[in-house]
Amino acid sequence: MRFGITTTFTVLTVTALLIAIGCAGSAASQNENAAAAAQSTPVPAATKNASMTAGETSTAAVSDELFDGKKIVKTDADWRKQLSPEQYYVLREEGTERPYTGELNDNKEVGDYHCAACKLKLFSSKTKYDSETGWPSFYQPINKKNVTEKPEKAGDDRIEVECARCGSHLGHVFDDGPEPTGLRYCMNSLALKFEKAK
Ligand SMILES: [Zn+2]
Repeated sequence: MRFGITTTFTVLTVTALLIAIGCAGSAASQNENAAAAAQSTPVPAATKNASMTAGETSTAAVSDELFDGKKIVKTDADWRKQLSPEQYYVLREEGTERPYTGELNDNKEVGDYHCAACKLKLFSSKTKYDSETGWPSFYQPINKKNVTEKPEKAGDDRIEVECARCGSHLGHVFDDGPEPTGLRYCMNSLALKFEKAK
């Protein structure tokens, strides 16, 4: 019993000393001292705000992997500033580059293909194959959530593929692809940005 009291006394003394030298934050872990917890409240609150800001930044980086539902909306003027005229024509005006002209058509390097407009990851080199059409072709996207597939305009039964995050036109998907999906994602090289695996 005596030993217990002595220990408690020592803890309280140490806690008091820590507060005295301005270490109230460290002392907060000592549940014995409610006063210390009360004093340190403003410190964790400030720390929490700082970590939330950091969290938002890292979430933005992570979302290049998987579309998180937050769409990127820019004016035409902003897209024109950001993209080359050729990219703007394909990505924002649903144009199609001439076959066998895109630099990624024959690319056989290992890595990932991102949206050239917003960097969202779209395809992996693992699913790229030579469709002999003159456009980079893949049998599946990295994640179905990262692309939007919708019927082309009236009178055209093709299925258009867009970046799910920024709505940029990427190409079309056809059902004459190889196993295991039987799909051919026929992409414009200009709509993609390749990042070599490290
Ligand atoms: Zn995009």
